[in-house]
Amino acid sequence: MLERVRPLEAEDVPIADAGGRVTAEAVRAAVDLPPFRSSAMDGFAVRAADTPGTLAIVERIAAGRPATRSLAAGEAMGIATGGVVPAGADAVVPIEVVVERDNRLDVPQAVAEQDNIRPVGGDVRRGDDVVEEGTRLGPSQVGAIAAAGVGVVRCTRRPRAAVLPTGTELRPPGEELRPGEIYESNGLILAEQLRDAGAEVERLPTVADDEDATRAALARALEADVVVTSGGVSVGPHDLVRRLLAELRAEEVFWRVAVKPGKPVVFATVGRTLVFGLPGNPVSALVGFELFVRPAVRALQGADPGPHYRLARLARAVRRDPARDALLRARLDGEAASPLSGQESHMIVRAAAANALVLVPRGEGELAEGESVSYLPL
Ligand code: AMP
Ligand code: MG
Repeated sequence: MLERVRPLEAEDVPIADAGGRVTAEAVRAAVDLPPFRSSAMDGFAVRAADTPGTLAIVERIAAGRPATRSLAAGEAMGIATGGVVPAGADAVVPIEVVVERDNRLDVPQAVAEQDNIRPVGGDVRRGDDVVEEGTRLGPSQVGAIAAAGVGVVRCTRRPRAAVLPTGTELRPPGEELRPGEIYESNGLILAEQLRDAGAEVERLPTVADDEDATRAALARALEADVVVTSGGVSVGPHDLVRRLLAELRAEEVFWRVAVKPGKPVVFATVGRTLVFGLPGNPVSALVGFELFVRPAVRALQGADPGPHYRLARLARAVRRDPARDALLRARLDGEAASPLSGQESHMIVRAAAANALVLVPRGEGELAEGESVSYLPL
């Protein structure tokens, strides 16, 4: 699947809008940070050689207002945290350790050179990397880029994703159910997951299991970079998605995976558009997204696709499926993963209590309590 994914184009993004975006190139510091020798404390700039001793307070330096002259022997200047340490000074004594009276300053103890001075470039040097290419920008990265003086960041375009639920039986929540109907939930699950993965999402109206309506809806959806459909990918007479995709010149890359839930997943491409047909059961859609769609959406942005499994211990024994890798909805408590009761693929309410998907590789027999397992955080 990832071989079919080519990262999207880059664009310039103002740093204030860059949260959640992925860098298309490394971001380099525009300035040394700190840009000047700055005080780490509220206190007094002094010459270490003058301490201990009594000094004349000749000026007071606020943040953003450098001293008007350099500091000479026997002098001290009041200085605020973040203030520019004046030329001639080589240490800052914290206000807590001195006694001040009538512009005289008693420094009772010796201070060492460089004490409480933040050196120029101590955080980053101008021209050095602030973040690497392919970094998804969170709060600290956005702050670091701003602090390093960069106002516009080259980021990969956000993928445009279309979500298309299929199924004649589906009703929007809030409406009255007629016999045989259930509420549509996959469209909402998938839209949330897509947004979380960095995509711009368009939710298309649910389409009934009708050829013409589904063909038209698919054709419309294919304008996006990523299409995620739900339902209609099994082998029943009303499962139309694969056949209609073929009519729309899709190249089917795979159909059906040895995974439980979510076996009938289909992945196809139409030109540069990636199409994921997820099965209709809500837990299958949820899990199929984590295994297939999220990595693809991340790869489209030039980010590490993952998924990255972590390690936990099973809180109880579980049966293995002989033919398919299972992803169990589980509750993680410290390093103990407890698979929830109610693992069937329609049980989205049970699944909503989970914060992990525990991977139980296919095989015979069971995994014992206490055994090490891989999981994906949910
Ligand atoms: P399908 O994959 O179309 O055969 O659907 C499998 C099961 O999932 C059926 O019970 C459907 O009613 C149910 N289902 C399909 N789509 C959705 C949806 N969008 N929201 C909730 N349940 C769905
Ligand atoms: Mg269906």
